[in-house]
Amino acid sequence: MTTLVRVSELKKKYQTGEVSFEALRGISLEIAAGDFVAVMGQSGSGKSTLLHIIGGLDQSSSGWVQVGEHRLDKMNQTDLAVFRRDQVGFVFQFFHLVENLNVQANVELPALLSGTKSKKEIRQHSTELLERLGIADQAHKHPWELSGGQQQRVAIARAFINSPRLLLADEPTGNLDSASGSEVLDILGEFNRQGQTILMVTHSAEDAARADSVLFIRDGRLVDRMPGGNDKAIAQRLVGLR
Ligand code: ADP
Ligand code: MG
Repeated sequence: MTTLVRVSELKKKYQTGEVSFEALRGISLEIAAGDFVAVMGQSGSGKSTLLHIIGGLDQSSSGWVQVGEHRLDKMNQTDLAVFRRDQVGFVFQFFHLVENLNVQANVELPALLSGTKSKKEIRQHSTELLERLGIADQAHKHPWELSGGQQQRVAIARAFINSPRLLLADEPTGNLDSASGSEVLDILGEFNRQGQTILMVTHSAEDAARADSVLFIRDGRLVDRMPGGNDKAIAQRLVGLR
C-alpha cells in the first residue's frame, strides 16, 4: 500500500484586518493511493480550507502537505500551478463551468492548457469521458442548458481530463437533488474502483458511507476517523461532534 497524500501538523491562520482566525489547528493524516476518503464536520470547521491546501489552491501557515513526491510548501508559484493542473482534479459544490464554452470545450480546457497532448488525443479522451459519464449527447450544449446533475458530470469529466492522481471534491452533491447526488456518488465510486484516489467533503452521511473511511473535523482539528459503510453510525458520530 503506497501513501499518496501526507499531511503533517497543518495549520492555517486567516487574517482579516486586525482579526486573525485559526481555521486549521494542527491536522495530520495520510491517504493511501486508491483510497476513497470522506471528510465531515460542521460548517466552518475547516474542511474546504484543508482541501484547498492539499490541492495547492491555498497555502498553509505551518506544517506541510506532500502529494506523491511533491512537497507543496517547497514549490514556487509556477510549479504549484502545474501541480494543480496536472496532479489534482477539483469538483466543487457550484460547478464552476465556463458559461460561454460548450460542454466538450469545458472538459477539454485543462488539457489544452496543459499542452502535453495533441488536440486529437484530447478530443478522444474527452469523448470517452463524456460517454462514461452518460453525457455524450450533451457535448455541444452550454452549461446553462443542462440540469444541475448534468453540470456536475461535466465538472467531473473536466476534473479527470488530465488523469489526476488525486480527485478533490468539496460537497459535490451539496447543490443536487438526492437522485442526481446519488448518481454522482455512483460515478465517483466507479472511478475509485478503477484505482482513483478521492478525498471528498460531504454533509451527507449516506454519501460518506460510500467511502472507505470518514474523517471528522471539529474546529480545525481531526477528531476522529471511522470506516465507511454504515451511514447510521456516521450520522450518529456527526451528531456527537456538535
Ligand atoms: P468549512 O468548509 O468546513 O465550512 P472553511 O474551511 O470554509 O470551513 O472555513 C473555516 C473557517 O475559516 C471559517 O470560520 C471561515 O469563516 C474561515 N475562513 C475561510 N476562508 C477564509 C478567508 N479567506 N478569510 C478569512 N476567513 C476564512
Ligand atoms: Mg466548505
